[in-house]
Amino acid sequence: MGAMRRKLVWVEKQNFQGWACTECAWAFNPSGPLVGGSIVEMMAIYKRQRDKEFTSHVCAKHPRVTKKSPLTKSLAG
Ligand SMILES: [Zn+2]
Repeated sequence: MGAMRRKLVWVEKQNFQGWACTECAWAFNPSGPLVGGSIVEMMAIYKRQRDKEFTSHVCAKHPRVTKKSPLTKSLAG
């Protein structure tokens, strides 16, 4: 298949601030409290977790919710 064009971007909205995918509705939710001996270590762990989850997520499983969703239901067949 072709190369993925998705990117990890920082998003700031009224109800959400965080890292999200440019190609779908996926967003990074840190699981649990950050652990680490120092801020630097915590950030390193946070980034590693973020990058890992971004890399492993499947865009097709996180479809964007649009108000005008086209009806693709086929009546044929
Ligand atoms: Zn995605």
